[in-house]
Amino acid sequence: MVNNNIEYDALVIGGGIAGQEASLNLANNGFKVLLVEKDLSLGGKMIQLSKVFPTLDCAACIATPKISETARNPNITIMTYSEVKDIEKLGNVFKAKVIKYPRYVKEDLCSGCQECEKVCPVNIDDQYNYNLVGRKAVYIPFNLANPRIATIDINNCILCGACEKVCPADAIDFTQKKSEYFLTVKTIIIATGFNLFEPWKKKEYNYNSCKNIIHSMEMERLLAPTRPFNYVLRPLDGKKPDNIAYVLCTGSRDKSMGNPICSQICCMYSIKQAQLLMGAIPTADITIYYIDIRAFGKGFDEFYEQAKEMDVTFIKGKVAKITEKKDGSGNLLLRYEAIDENCEIKEAEHDMVVLSVGILPNSEISSSFKNEKLELDEYNYLLQVEKLTSPAKTNIKGVFVAGTASGPMDIPDSILSAGDASAEATSYLRRPCTC
Ligand SMILES: Cc1cc2nc3c(=O)[nH]c(=O)nc-3n(C[C@H](O)[C@H](O)[C@H](O)COP(=O)(O)OP(=O)(O)OC[C@H]3O[C@@H](n4cnc5c(N)ncnc54)[C@H](O)[C@@H]3O)c2cc1C
Repeated sequence: MVNNNIEYDALVIGGGIAGQEASLNLANNGFKVLLVEKDLSLGGKMIQLSKVFPTLDCAACIATPKISETARNPNITIMTYSEVKDIEKLGNVFKAKVIKYPRYVKEDLCSGCQECEKVCPVNIDDQYNYNLVGRKAVYIPFNLANPRIATIDINNCILCGACEKVCPADAIDFTQKKSEYFLTVKTIIIATGFNLFEPWKKKEYNYNSCKNIIHSMEMERLLAPTRPFNYVLRPLDGKKPDNIAYVLCTGSRDKSMGNPICSQICCMYSIKQAQLLMGAIPTADITIYYIDIRAFGKGFDEFYEQAKEMDVTFIKGKVAKITEKKDGSGNLLLRYEAIDENCEIKEAEHDMVVLSVGILPNSEISSSFKNEKLELDEYNYLLQVEKLTSPAKTNIKGVFVAGTASGPMDIPDSILSAGDASAEATSYLRRPCTC
């Protein structure tokens, strides 16, 4: 299906916290906004988090009202499961194509009742819970998804038709095809967020072969109010962990991994998780191995001190290698350089390890720009041409960047950055510059 020449004032790409904030600011100023999200739901990473540092507010409780506000705003049109391609600047406007992928479910008919999920015979890994549990081939990605519409994962569907038979709304439609929309917009905000460092790339940590090593986003899911199980358990044998280690800077500040910069959030989210674990498993010992603790925001250092008072152990040590003990216990041996003890090489045993993975750029969108090249910085984040004075400006006039698409930052800073991008876009819309 092709839909031609749809006009909006602004195109916002990415429906995480930054994209929502930017869309709302523009919409509340009377501009017509198209928000395009490539995933099945709005929310980005924040909707999957447990609580947030340093206040320990529930992430979903803060994220869901903003998502509903975005979804209800009459000036915002949302396209999920969609991608923007072929962006061209022509004079004062941008032309672009949006591809909307088929859900094989009629969006206007699906009520989100999940009757289809109950009868689907297929069980596969649930990517929204980082494969900690399974999901069906027809599924709503998570309980708080917005829009709450089922989607058939056609690559894993066995086409048995069971969902079609039970759907009370007659919403299943295996004939759906992808649709293309051709747009004209006056300004663009890019809020495509970040990627997580893939922990298996740090070969010395043996993430793939040691089951009791997980990464920090998996721990977020284990601790979240919307968690898949009620307990934090070791993946290998389902035992309650007693002695958990955090390895900071996994894939950050690490030239060998091609990411020399600090991810800015890992120290604080690890301290947050340690505090939450103290509540979930009060008998457990928690040790955080760090190079430096970067607690630079308001209330952050106090949060760090609070963790120490709660008996979280902090070891200034660079972890070189993690291996599984050969006695069948599934416990892990950490070999580390004790920086504060004359860089002595030491070994410690833990029954579970959490890798505090760093954040990486998601610069894929730059390849969608055709006649003007969207430039990246030396770390592959979107280039901020006036970083100190107008951080939302990219090298293309009329294209702005919001949130972690321009570099590592936490949620409040992503919101501030989205405020800046929408203010810049508003000025541009009122006085477009052709120079
Ligand atoms: C383990 C962990 C714990 C954290 N804990 C905290 C915390 O306690 N407190 C805190 O302040 N911060 C925390 N953070 C950081 C927080 O997650 C980020 O600051 C925040 O998610 C950034 O929001 P964003 O909108 O910039 O990016 P994202 O959340 O990444 O959202 C980007 C969105 O854009 C979409 N997208 C990507 N590419 C495209 C495309 N080409 N087209 C359309 N859509 C696209 C994505 O699907 C996604 O929905 C944590 C991060 C991690 C990894």
